[in-house]
Amino acid sequence: MQRLLIANRGEIAVRVIRACRELGISPVAVYSDADRDAPHVRLADAAVCLGPGPASESYLRSELVLEAARSLGADAVHPGYGFLSENAAFADACAAAKITFVGPPGNVIRALGDKIGAKNTMQAAGVPCVPGYNGDGQADDLLQAEAQKIGTPLLIKASAGGGGRGMRRVDTLTDFLPQLAEARREAKAAFGDDRVLLEKYVLKPRHIEFQIFGDTHGNVVHLFERECSIQRRHQKILEESPSPALTPTLRAQMAAAAVLAGKAAGYVGAGTVEFLVSGDSFYFLEVNTRLQVEHPVTESITGTDLVAWQIAVARGEPLPLTQEQIQSRGHCIEARIYAEDPATGFLPSLGTLRRWREPSGPGIRVDSGYTEGMEIPPFYDPMLAKVIAYGPDRAAALARLDLALSEFVALGVTTNIEYLRTILADTAFIAGELHTGFLPERFTGWKPNAEIPEEVLIALGALSPLAPAYPLAPAGLGNTNGNTNGNAWLASDGWRNAKSS
Ligand code: ADP
Ligand code: ADP
Ligand code: MG
Repeated sequence: MQRLLIANRGEIAVRVIRACRELGISPVAVYSDADRDAPHVRLADAAVCLGPGPASESYLRSELVLEAARSLGADAVHPGYGFLSENAAFADACAAAKITFVGPPGNVIRALGDKIGAKNTMQAAGVPCVPGYNGDGQADDLLQAEAQKIGTPLLIKASAGGGGRGMRRVDTLTDFLPQLAEARREAKAAFGDDRVLLEKYVLKPRHIEFQIFGDTHGNVVHLFERECSIQRRHQKILEESPSPALTPTLRAQMAAAAVLAGKAAGYVGAGTVEFLVSGDSFYFLEVNTRLQVEHPVTESITGTDLVAWQIAVARGEPLPLTQEQIQSRGHCIEARIYAEDPATGFLPSLGTLRRWREPSGPGIRVDSGYTEGMEIPPFYDPMLAKVIAYGPDRAAALARLDLALSEFVALGVTTNIEYLRTILADTAFIAGELHTGFLPERFTGWKPNAEIPEEVLIALGALSPLAPAYPLAPAGLGNTNGNTNGNAWLASDGWRNAKSS
């Protein structure tokens, strides 16, 4: 592998470029009109424009990506996450063009992307699954009879679904048929496939996933878990490892099930086996056949470079470590920084990054794809950066994350930084009492403590490169609510700018 094309944008493109540099591989990029000035374009050795901003006209056009790989002389493609990363036809097209796809083979992606087929494979292998119906029969009366057996609440899921889409909860059986019709319509429109499966709805579950890795020599290992229960709209915003919920016994059982799932699927490359956990029971959900957004959490606790592992596997090398050599040490937590407004139902916030300063310090890693002055394009996921905090234990990692977030300057757009800091200060969160409904249950109606008036901050000169992120509270002020880190704008003691609500 001499030259690798990164078929993605933002922080993950930058992340893969860095791995290429370390390995002596020439990284090349693609971009859309909206990303001309993006860091991933400048950091690459060469780059090709795919087309206009919308992903369907640029990053999702597999034939243009392959054409770019050919014209740039790339012998490999890394798809990142999202976009073409779980597109089996794209993986096949790369193979046909003699370009190494850094990911599992097309047939593995295809088999695991179909929830009915994947669940059947896992059940046959003895991996515990959510009780339900995942047969091929799709007649109304058959599904209704199965729904009756499962009981309510239950979940209708699109077999081809993904990204939290194509799911419908049913609370009373009289609603089943109308909901089924809706689910089929949605699934047909979104995925071109209206087959569904039925699952018992697990109440207040945790979402705990295991990182797995396979190679072309038949080895499959796990690299421990990530607890991802803190989700808004079924999308994770805080991820950590170890999970505060797992006993050594449960961890060992789930790890064994994850490796079993990988072996049953003939898994090659980086994958994530997702489980729901309720008490001492755990249930297989699905395998994500790609590098995950939250992979740095695993890298921190295991001291590995998972992109380098992906490249090693794609080159046909055996996994760098055996299961026995993979150890988990300390605690790591990642926060996703989004340009969105948690006070208005997480609506994306567009605009120009007028001030942008990333935190640093012991145990802090920031992966981002933006720089000061950049405009946030409306076409993509509004994630700006990830702040990853490592410490010897959970309390230390949480404290470091909060300190780093307090130092993060992102002005010009509304971000979720203050929202994340409120979660970190929440007593149930600190106690590790998490479930997938945690945010809607505890944080619906959340409002920021004080609006940060940008013009004032800039006029105060508070944002010169070496100044603290926000004016420090005058002596005796601040920190009265225990979690302001001297940030006067967040203190609840009356120190307010005139513009506060
Ligand atoms: P993870 O489990 O890695 O956190 P997410 O569900 O958050 O995965 O999705 C990873 C990324 O992929 C996000 O940026 C999301 O917006 C993007 N994504 C999810 N589904 C799709 C899709 N069908 N097409 C393109 N991008 C997608
Ligand atoms: P996707 O492919 O869209 O990611 P998943 O099957 O992984 O679909 O489910 C996404 C999320 O939906 C899970 O993280 C969990 O929060 C919720 N979920 C899925 N299945 C169930 C279930 N049977 N009971 C309760 N919640 C579920
Ligand atoms: Mg999932």
